[in-house]
Amino acid sequence: MLDLRQFYINGNWCDPLEARELEVINPATEQQIATVSLGTSEDVDLAVKAARAAFDEFGYSNRETRLALLERLLEAYMDRYQEMAEAISQEMGAPIDFATSNQAACGNGHLKAAIDALKEYPFEEQLATGRVYKEAIGVCGFITPWNWPINQVACKTAPALATGCTMVLKGSELSPLSSHLFAEMIDQAGYPKGVFNLVDGLGHEVGAAISSHPDIDMVSFTGSTAAGIAVSKAAADNVKRVTLELGGKSPNIILDHDNFAQAVARGVTSCFGNTGQTCTAPTRMLVPESRYDEAVGIAESIATKTSVGNPSSSGNHIGPLVSASHFERVQGLIETGIKEGARLLAGGIGKPEGFETGYFVKPTVFAGVRNDMQIAREEIFGPVLCLIPFRDEADALRIANDTPYGLAAYVSGEPSAAEKFARRIRAGMVAINGGDQGFDCPFGGYKQSGNGREWGEYGFEDFLEIKTIA
Ligand code: NAD
Repeated sequence: MLDLRQFYINGNWCDPLEARELEVINPATEQQIATVSLGTSEDVDLAVKAARAAFDEFGYSNRETRLALLERLLEAYMDRYQEMAEAISQEMGAPIDFATSNQAACGNGHLKAAIDALKEYPFEEQLATGRVYKEAIGVCGFITPWNWPINQVACKTAPALATGCTMVLKGSELSPLSSHLFAEMIDQAGYPKGVFNLVDGLGHEVGAAISSHPDIDMVSFTGSTAAGIAVSKAAADNVKRVTLELGGKSPNIILDHDNFAQAVARGVTSCFGNTGQTCTAPTRMLVPESRYDEAVGIAESIATKTSVGNPSSSGNHIGPLVSASHFERVQGLIETGIKEGARLLAGGIGKPEGFETGYFVKPTVFAGVRNDMQIAREEIFGPVLCLIPFRDEADALRIANDTPYGLAAYVSGEPSAAEKFARRIRAGMVAINGGDQGFDCPFGGYKQSGNGREWGEYGFEDFLEIKTIA
């Protein structure tokens, strides 16, 4: 049993001001694996004070100093890479091979992308009548989710550390193993005390204290749209910058083309990846009426062949959902789909055979879905795919954009037709024919999917103030 009851504040591991604890549960075994403390606004105050004091120097440090520190952090990350993969697998249920190849790889991916961007980033620019300086915004507050835990921690901290910001992180209370390990790596890398601080706790307590704190200059939040709205409202009183990375209900438009069958298969597999707990998951598959039956057959066959398995075993199976309450929510939405009259092709309510313990669900596909059904509008955040037919490309575009979200989209088709289609989708990221953006490209959404851009050089901008000296 891991003891994660201390916070990392001002370069030290210290006890919370008030002793309150939360059990951390492994979602595959339903057993407690760690104990974490639940902080209060007083713990946040201490962390903010430390970050504010550290900013005086770190905020004005030079590029070389910050590069050397980031390189040491990357080294520390690689030294403990396998530990990170195991921590993620245990806390949120990602199968160990996926945690190793995909989840943990986001940490070094973002650190490396920030190092590359920092080497060349233009922090100054001469204009006709003045000089423009881009300066670190100050003390940042980070609030992150559990679904790609180290991805979100790294894609916020790496650009913040690169630009000279200091910070207070509240990771998800469901996945503290990875954020504690990351704090140990920061310590190992030798960052000055107070640059990075970690306070665990609940969203409406520690998250709200960070959002409303008068001495935090910006908050970067990743999570559900509802919580993102609460963060924005709490932050409004002191006009701090708020960047949001929120939910999605991404369309996957498969135009009629030669590789149709392959595109349908890829779409189903991709929707089930990370047990459907990915904000960019292609959950609405749009296929032409003329090839609908073919798509239905392929989707059913892939779903039936998708295996569910224990996260600690090697293999390309999917794992459990993150928690008991999330399991209940996903079950409820599958039930809603059935009541709404969608046709269940695979999966459905209940646990897969042989998986009575753990929050495992059946990979589920619905056909005959209309875009106004709740299962087509709401983010389910589980392995649940909706198949929606379209008449022609204009109809496909209308359905694709008929959503409050705008995070990602996927288009398969003849490349130039697909690219033309992609330009008309109101979403921040569109992948064509299985394209896979790297850590150098901007990540973020339109509409209710958020307002920030993370990753690589674009990810620096949210952490910079712009000053003109004339
Ligand atoms: P969540 O909103 O429940 O929690 C996210 C974080 O916010 C947690 O640390 C939580 O403690 C905190 N929080 C909750 N309520 C808060 C409040 N009122 N004030 C301040 N903080 C609060 O989300 P989750 O269940 O952890 O994650 C899943 C959601 O995250 C999905 O909607 C998913 O789409 C979204 N997500 C988005 C992206 C993206 O980059 N756009 C990436 C991953 C996940």
